[in-house]
Amino acid sequence: MTNRVVLIGHPVAHSFSGAMQQAAFDALGIDARYELWDRRQIDLADAIAELRGDDFLGANVTIPHKEHVVPLVDRLTDDAAATGAVNVISREGKKLIGHNTDVAGFRAALDKVVGKQKMPRHAVVLGAGGASRAVVSALIGEGFQRIVIFNRHLHRAEGLVRHFGRSAAHMDLRAMPWHESVLEAELSKTKVLVNATAVGMAPGETPVPAELLPPDLFVIDLIYNPPVTQLLKDATSARDTVLGGELMLLGQGARAFELWTGKPAPVEVMQAELDRTREHGLRQIPVDMGPGGTAGGSGAVEGTAGGTAAGRPA
Ligand code: NAP
Repeated sequence: MTNRVVLIGHPVAHSFSGAMQQAAFDALGIDARYELWDRRQIDLADAIAELRGDDFLGANVTIPHKEHVVPLVDRLTDDAAATGAVNVISREGKKLIGHNTDVAGFRAALDKVVGKQKMPRHAVVLGAGGASRAVVSALIGEGFQRIVIFNRHLHRAEGLVRHFGRSAAHMDLRAMPWHESVLEAELSKTKVLVNATAVGMAPGETPVPAELLPPDLFVIDLIYNPPVTQLLKDATSARDTVLGGELMLLGQGARAFELWTGKPAPVEVMQAELDRTREHGLRQIPVDMGPGGTAGGSGAVEGTAGGTAAGRPA
């Protein structure tokens, strides 16, 4: 029996996870197939229930379902409970376990960018979606004392602050309105800037004008395609402490692979597949559009690694 792992999201066609995970299964001789399931929220509960079947090793969950999936699994790990978001589901018998491997993936990126220097204590985070929750959880865990969230829709950032209320009681976690003067004032006081929005996927697009970036700032952009966003280009001109989203993608994916298979992830193989995908485009994986859609719709097409700014999944 060929085992199955699925990515559940809406949309899913531009995700790099399928290529990366399939390459890892193939390299280790694991008889498993990575599938792309495009599901609307109304079909999510049925899709999750299907994962209890014996042929499933588990799933990835992406935009916009990471938070909606929380009540649909049987148990949450600490990182998933802390963030209130699930990006990986594994199975223990018939039980479904919800994980958040984005937290560990981001921690690896933060460690890499800070290097041997002392870990800073003050961060600005742009965005308030599922990825931002993983970032904030990791920053709180690292002992940050002040984290300021800016989001296009302020109420979502305020909801994120409320979510972390208890775990952030000892520090200053706050949402601020995204006005350039407010952002500039906050950036002048911070050491770490994280872009956890989708802004920067399109060429030239950036969430922060170059002139607002102070020198000596660590900048992490969660976007992994393009590998060097306009924000990172602008930041690099003044410093070399910048990092794109690929290390986080690899880190969260390696952890997911281990949860599904119980085997160490072949990280070099996964990295090589990401390099190949960036250079030559995504391998074609058919997209299962689910009950309401057209089954077998076309997935990612060779040579189209790019996508639209609106919500490309991890
Ligand atoms: P999400 O839950 O859909 O949240 C999207 C975020 O982007 C929200 O804060 C949203 O603001 C903001 N946004 C979208 N379009 C915008 C625009 N035109 N102007 C201003 N803000 C805008 O998605 P997510 O899962 O958090 O992912 C966010 C980003 O992180 C994506 O680029 C994703 O690819 C990346 N990511 C990378 C990794 C990795 O491993 N490297 C992992 C996860 C995510 P509103 O709330 O105001 O709509």
